[in-house]
Amino acid sequence: MSDQLTFQNPVDRYPSVDAPEQQQPAPGLDEELTPTADRGEETYRGTGRLEGRCALITGGDSGIGAAVAIAFAREGADVAIAYLPDEEQDARAVVELIEKSGSTAVALPADITTPDACRALVGDAVEALGGLDILVNNAGKQQFCERLEDLSDEQFDETFRTNVYAMFWITKAALPHLPAGSSIINTTSVQAYLPSEILVDYATTKASINTFTKALASQLAPRGIRVNAVAPGPIWTPLQVSGGQPKDKLPDFGEQTALGRAGQPTELAPAYVFLASPESSYVVGETLNVNGGMPTP
Ligand code: NAD
Ligand code: MG
Repeated sequence: MSDQLTFQNPVDRYPSVDAPEQQQPAPGLDEELTPTADRGEETYRGTGRLEGRCALITGGDSGIGAAVAIAFAREGADVAIAYLPDEEQDARAVVELIEKSGSTAVALPADITTPDACRALVGDAVEALGGLDILVNNAGKQQFCERLEDLSDEQFDETFRTNVYAMFWITKAALPHLPAGSSIINTTSVQAYLPSEILVDYATTKASINTFTKALASQLAPRGIRVNAVAPGPIWTPLQVSGGQPKDKLPDFGEQTALGRAGQPTELAPAYVFLASPESSYVVGETLNVNGGMPTP
């Protein structure tokens, strides 16, 4: 069985997704995604890079967050995943995979759109893990809208609360617990540089996440806490089939990249492992693009 370290051609490591048109209510479930995504269940091999670490990953139930949770656990970290209560089914499957690797798994259902919920989430994670030294702000809301006149004030607000405010609230609550050596990793997007005309609110939050990451990285570096970001390109996850993209765009999803295919969530995991691990000690305020070859600044 090949794994992420097997020498292989990136063009055909995965076939084109060739997704049938499909629609799930937001937030969507990995369990109902067709075809299923590779979160590394069978393919991610740990090499001991996060032994003894304690991680909180928001949106860790599915997609990129699930792939990161699986990889962190196989690298030796104990992992808390946060997710919406409606995603219990996906979360259970990830908890099982974390535990199978011999790590502690903590499941924390919470809607992170209020400051109180974010503070409680961090408190619960710290208590259950016995500390915290990796924070991955990965939860995100993406709902396409073709005309600004139709973009509701409520959606604009919720997108910002989920993608930007929650990152601020969670990071602020986590800081008193993070020892020197800790890593904060924010999930941004290629949308920060190449915004789609139908993702005005979402793309704007992702540009904010980039700037927040760089400013906070400079502030926290002297304290020994590194802040970085990962910017995925088109990745096959439930976000895309639950309002993230119009249904008719799904069959060609990801074909605009230089590799000519969408990415799988597990292809993101090594970037997060690298930024979480001490080996990236001199990497601060960086945005690591994992996008199949879409030129970015
Ligand atoms: P996903 O649907 O699997 O993950 C998003 C997660 O966000 C959900 O599982 C959910 O648990 C969480 N979430 C959403 N609203 C929430 C709320 N109010 N409270 C708590 N949790 C909430 O999809 P994904 O694509 O893996 O998304 C993960 C991150 O990657 C997001 O930040 C997304 O913007 C980013 N991203 C995705 C792509 C892509 O093509 N899939 C590209 C660039 C960036
Ligand atoms: Mg999910």
